[in-house]
Amino acid sequence: MELAKKDKILGSLMAGAIGDSLGAATEFKSLESIYEHFGPAGLTEIHPPGRFTDDTQMTLFTVVGVVRALLADDRPSSERWTGSFHTAYLEWLRTQEIRYDTEKNSGSWLVHESTLYRREAPGHTCLRALQSGEVGTLEHRFNDSMGCGGVMRAAPVGLLLGDSFSRADRYEVGCLSAAVTHGHDGGIHPAGAFAVMVGDLLNGATIEEAVLELVGLIPGDLQELLDFAVEFGGSGAIEPMSLCDELGQGWVGDEALAVAVACAVAGPDMETALLAAINHDGDTDSTGSICGNLFGAMAGIDAVPTRWVEDAAQSDLIRRVAEDCVSFLDGDCSPEFSARYTG
Ligand SMILES: [Mg+2]
Repeated sequence: MELAKKDKILGSLMAGAIGDSLGAATEFKSLESIYEHFGPAGLTEIHPPGRFTDDTQMTLFTVVGVVRALLADDRPSSERWTGSFHTAYLEWLRTQEIRYDTEKNSGSWLVHESTLYRREAPGHTCLRALQSGEVGTLEHRFNDSMGCGGVMRAAPVGLLLGDSFSRADRYEVGCLSAAVTHGHDGGIHPAGAFAVMVGDLLNGATIEEAVLELVGLIPGDLQELLDFAVEFGGSGAIEPMSLCDELGQGWVGDEALAVAVACAVAGPDMETALLAAINHDGDTDSTGSICGNLFGAMAGIDAVPTRWVEDAAQSDLIRRVAEDCVSFLDGDCSPEFSARYTG
């Protein structure tokens, strides 16, 4: 694989984890209280260092879901994708049980990473859906959730399918990954759109171009919102007061993607984009995480401020997952590699 793509895969996963870690400190605060706590510039550093949330945890398990499906079949069926995502997210659910169960030997290498056994305000929809025993698909929907828990974890679909799957395929797989836990179109379609965009960014598109390429693939109302997000982000520096007024707070899927897109378009650099994505009234860890995934897939690891990489939680773990993605895309299907994913 060319160096640029390797850097972008690492950049996307690392910047997503950093946006999530930054946003974890502002998630349940109003903008006013963010200013009270952190000063007139808002939050500008990871505080405290070393803490990412369910957004990044679930993103890492999406890698497991995609790799496992592709190890079983070059062109997995919808059923295979759904089953593989469901199994991977059940592994994440095990990490939310907090106590690492050494008796359980099954599962991917990630489920044996004891540092992932932390609860960081996991989304209720994801927990409840996975605990229910039901498995959501595009046809079988067992709740009506349009929360952003589906979109915030979908970046690896774009990172791993960007090379060899069409936009339509990436869209479907992204939607399937969200539909496992989310039953409303508003929780599902943004995940598909995000997966398409991340793949296009990996292949050299700008954010604006990646949004344009969605035309005809995604529902018209989502396209309109994302077009508006591009226009809003392109009109100058993001005003924290108007971001949520114009695009929403990001608790639901389409708004989370729109806020992240606007901040990434405004940029102009990763630091400014991420700080805009985490200093507002809404779901800041998710909008920070999605914005980081987008910006990193476009600009690569060199665009990520090094001080944040040092302060980020478990950057070694993120690096190992990114290296696995690259090895897999380079054709490593060795028994050792497979065993780490199939468990
Ligand atoms: Mg979170």
